[in-house]
Amino acid sequence: MTPFTFARAVDEGDALRLASAPAIKYLGGGTNLVDLMRETVEHPRGLVDVTGLSDAIEETDGGGLMIGAAVRNSSLAGHRAVRERFPVLARALLAGASAQIRNMATVGGNLLQRTRCTYFYDTDGSRCNKRQPGQGCDAIHGFNRNHAILGASPACVATHPSDMCVALAALDATVHLQSAQGSRSVALTDFHHLPGEHPEVETVLEPGELVTAIELPALSAAARSTYRKVRDRASYAFALVSVAAVLEVSSGEIADARLALGGVAHKPWRAQLAEGALRGRPATAETFRAAAEAELADAVPLRDNGFKIELAKRTIAAVLGELAGVEA
Ligand SMILES: Cc1cc2nc3c(=O)[nH]c(=O)nc-3n(C[C@H](O)[C@H](O)[C@H](O)COP(=O)(O)OP(=O)(O)OC[C@H]3O[C@@H](n4cnc5c(N)ncnc54)[C@H](O)[C@@H]3O)c2cc1C
Ligand code: SF4
Repeated sequence: MTPFTFARAVDEGDALRLASAPAIKYLGGGTNLVDLMRETVEHPRGLVDVTGLSDAIEETDGGGLMIGAAVRNSSLAGHRAVRERFPVLARALLAGASAQIRNMATVGGNLLQRTRCTYFYDTDGSRCNKRQPGQGCDAIHGFNRNHAILGASPACVATHPSDMCVALAALDATVHLQSAQGSRSVALTDFHHLPGEHPEVETVLEPGELVTAIELPALSAAARSTYRKVRDRASYAFALVSVAAVLEVSSGEIADARLALGGVAHKPWRAQLAEGALRGRPATAETFRAAAEAELADAVPLRDNGFKIELAKRTIAAVLGELAGVEA
């Protein structure tokens, strides 16, 4: 690990000031960033600890929730309003990592955690466009069982690892940001980039810009929502495929459906094609399968991960079936 300075921010202004020099990074729980520093993937000159900033979960005027960036993943999963009104989010958080890591990990850090592509971590022997732009990508012709089937590019086929972000994508969450120039808000679905020609540019975040909060809009249908994560082990493993789903059925017809997928793309994947194939249709196993087929129609398998296409279809259909009380 290269030497670095350390400072603890007392408020947002303090954090922005401390992070104004080049190569300074914010530090949440450190559960991803410190690993990346140990592996010499990242080498910031300084860390600014932002865990002393807002860790409040507050009701908004519109009936949604404002979640401070320093809220720990375990606190968010256990919060009563989240469990009762947004169970998909509580389940996604509890499907991630281990209890110890969830106790340390923050909302801001989870949003910005980096891919688990093993070639990305292998600084000694592997080529990686995300680590070193223009170098090449050893995953494309390497062992790519965990990699993307949707939205990938010839430059990078990595997946986004966060469970929380998949639920936030389905819930139409907004990310609140603060910089020296002022504040702005970005839809969660626009926050992360697909790889394109620049997989090293992962989010819309500008240098020094701080994530201050995530906002969940009021969504009554979200009380009927869930998250299912398919993985190699029952716990402590990243998703092969995951599905976050909100479903509202009225008189046997689908009134509202929001779906997002994890483990399949470089960003949390909002499944808009599937949603279009669900709204206004009867809540049947056939409708659910047709929606899954529509979403995965453009999926492109790599050498080792073709199984994800059928797995994603079956998981979408099963989750929708569970929410509708229909055998899928
Ligand atoms: C063994 C293991 C298993 C795991 N399994 C899962 C899993 O199954 N599912 C899952 O979703 N995650 C999993 N994780 C990842 C874990 O959830 C993340 O490491 C964690 O959420 C990151 O949060 P943090 O607060 O520790 O972030 P940090 O490591 O502190 O920071 C991560 C990034 O966020 C930036 N950052 C932090 N806060 C802010 C802010 N307020 N504004 C701007 N930038 C900020 C940092 O600069 C850094 O770039 C696992 C991790 C480990 C080690
Ligand atoms: S898939 Fe992306 S992260 Fe993995 S080696 Fe290729 S460029 Fe790097």
